[in-house]
Amino acid sequence: MIPFVGLRAQYQTIKDEIDVAIRDVVSRADFILGAHLEEFERAFAPFLGVEHAIGVGSGGDALRLALMALEVGPGNDVIVPANSYIATALAVSSVGARPVLVDCDPSTYNIDVTRVEAALTPRTRAIIPVHFTGLAADMDPILEVASRHGIPVIEDAAQAHGARYKQRMCGAIGAMGCFSFYPSKNLGAYGDGGMVVTNDRELAERVASLRNYGQSEKYIHVRKGLNARLDSLQAAVLLVKLKHLAVWNAAREAHARAYRQLLVGVGDLVFQQCPAYARHIYHLFIVETGRRDALRKYLHDREIQTGIHYPIPIHLQAAYTDLGYREGDFPRAEQLAGRALSLPMFPELTPEQIHYVAAAIREFYAEG
Ligand SMILES: *Cc1c(COP(=O)(O)O)cnc(C)c1O
Repeated sequence: MIPFVGLRAQYQTIKDEIDVAIRDVVSRADFILGAHLEEFERAFAPFLGVEHAIGVGSGGDALRLALMALEVGPGNDVIVPANSYIATALAVSSVGARPVLVDCDPSTYNIDVTRVEAALTPRTRAIIPVHFTGLAADMDPILEVASRHGIPVIEDAAQAHGARYKQRMCGAIGAMGCFSFYPSKNLGAYGDGGMVVTNDRELAERVASLRNYGQSEKYIHVRKGLNARLDSLQAAVLLVKLKHLAVWNAAREAHARAYRQLLVGVGDLVFQQCPAYARHIYHLFIVETGRRDALRKYLHDREIQTGIHYPIPIHLQAAYTDLGYREGDFPRAEQLAGRALSLPMFPELTPEQIHYVAAAIREFYAEG
């Protein structure tokens, strides 16, 4: 069986380090806002080249806290891509603002930067590009529109730990960057976790207070915050894993090159395009095909797990009927929802496994 993500295989490669780290947290009984969290924050900030990193409860919390720190709320609009995990839009809704969707570019699957300006309203208070699949969104045109209108950019880097845009690290480019440490992400915890990064001290202080019930010092509450802290066990695990991230990302890139070489010209397969400005870290390896569901079943029958990111676009989810969007409003996101198939992608994949997957896909098309 070839899993979609190989978390058990990964644990075996770092077991000794992880077990020591977990024992250390438990024996110190320093579970919340302790030394491990500070150490991880102090390691994550220079990894990205930013001044401040604030560990939070999840990627969704990171986005929500970033919006709260910018005082985005009821009556405000926030631009988000139509093609993302729904958490990006839900963070906007969670502060009472309205997500305004923008369709994706058909070749990169990232937000179509030529459509951002037309989606602005007098109420727009933030733009949240997503570095979807680990491929940087085209940030310069987004930053240009944003600065002309005086609107901050919050990067959703939940799939982009270590991805680059023109030498800059994803997450370190806008006013704030938001990361998820959901277990299957390129840098994943053993539970939920997230991080907000910024170079702005004032914003960093607000996020640090907001994640801890709005506290400034013990029992002094200066704003209405929430409980959205990254706990010490997760921080200790993430500190171990951060040291391996560069090697893991390089392995993913090599796997992507192998898939492309083995599958180029096969059937009707179309690959995601990676522009020269980006260093793609392949959180996901997506192929497009008009026979997606049949291919998925064929691979499933050969014990190859695949994923669909994502089967129902945000604007067609029942949760968002209130936005008033209809089928046809974001044709590229809708087309992708029907055509995209994510192949197994994780650092520990072996060349034999990649060949097995590619051979199965070639057989699928050979059988017609
Ligand atoms: C995973 C993800 C999130 C949410 O992260 P959680 O840690 O699961 O809350 C947000 N945005 C994108 C693009 C994601 O992939």
